[in-house]
Amino acid sequence: MTFEILHTSKISKARVGKIITSHGVIETPNFVAVGTNGTIKALDSQMVTNMGLQLLFCNTYHLLLQPGVAVVEKAGGLHGFMKRSLPIITDSGGFQVFSLAFGSVAEELKSAGKKKSEGMVLKIDEEGVLFRSYRDGSKIFLTPESSVEAQKKLGADIIIPLDELPPYHASLENLRDSFARTHRWEERSFRAHQKEPKGQQIWGVIHGGVEKDLRKKSCEILTALAFDGYAVGGSVGKSKEEMVQMLSFTLPHLPKEKPRHLLGIGDLVSVQKIVPLGIDTFDSSYPTKAARHGLLLTKMGSLKILKKENESSLQPIDPTCHCWTCQHYHRSYLHHLFKAKELVAFTLATIHNLHYMVELMQEMRQKILWDQI
Ligand SMILES: [Zn+2]
Repeated sequence: MTFEILHTSKISKARVGKIITSHGVIETPNFVAVGTNGTIKALDSQMVTNMGLQLLFCNTYHLLLQPGVAVVEKAGGLHGFMKRSLPIITDSGGFQVFSLAFGSVAEELKSAGKKKSEGMVLKIDEEGVLFRSYRDGSKIFLTPESSVEAQKKLGADIIIPLDELPPYHASLENLRDSFARTHRWEERSFRAHQKEPKGQQIWGVIHGGVEKDLRKKSCEILTALAFDGYAVGGSVGKSKEEMVQMLSFTLPHLPKEKPRHLLGIGDLVSVQKIVPLGIDTFDSSYPTKAARHGLLLTKMGSLKILKKENESSLQPIDPTCHCWTCQHYHRSYLHHLFKAKELVAFTLATIHNLHYMVELMQEMRQKILWDQI
């Protein structure tokens, strides 16, 4: 048993549950913070554990290039390397290979699909994807099997099969080619994982962009394999409405008894929309990125610490917040630290924003239990 549903809301598809891994339980629904390089920027593993953040997302692509999986493996995998005792999830590396090549959906929309960056992806064929390292220009060939092997060495509790991210503006024909290949890659990843599960879970990635029939087909292909959970990936649309629509017709095709993750979404407006649809976990760098820009999340809305009105305010960021930062420091000091570009500003702001997310998810779970969400 790797997932248990404790309650399903009577007024929506939201559910409260727990994902059981070898490094502990993840209560769901839950926010997953992004620690790309094996750390949340400006925090060490102990601080992250202390604030009750239950799942951390690390990026295989970045760790492959620096420090390399051999170094991490020697230290006992990511848990030993970064001294984290709680669960970790890694992705396949594919998303970064393709997203760095094609740019984000937003950038792509601006350039109407014409912009291709400096040819990081050198070749995609049935076997895998050949790309150039942005660090030293060396060529790296990533296959479904080599991605799974790397993730075995990194030793995360949850791993992701190699998939292809087609650009948002791909023609329907290209989208269908990529779609067929990505599912063959996922199946190969699944088979490679099965040979040596090592106590890890593997979550299939549902593709198909905003095409209803493709999303349905993706669910059919991947649920035929015994993945431990499912992540919704690929393009989720160009607006929140499109995303909600896509999730509304995709999620009913997934088995209720397995966890569902939404890849790369976690802004506060989206969180309120995706949880009632039955999303159990979602990862986003938004709260930590916002923190480093001095944008602090509070129940009264977001607060820009660099605003003049905070210059001499002796109030904490949020008087109702129980985080380390709000318990010890006032806005005036934080305003000063950001203005003086002191590094601890990033630490204190990140602690607050992550704490906000942890509390927000606790509250949402409670509301689901009370059938209020
Ligand atoms: Zn706080």
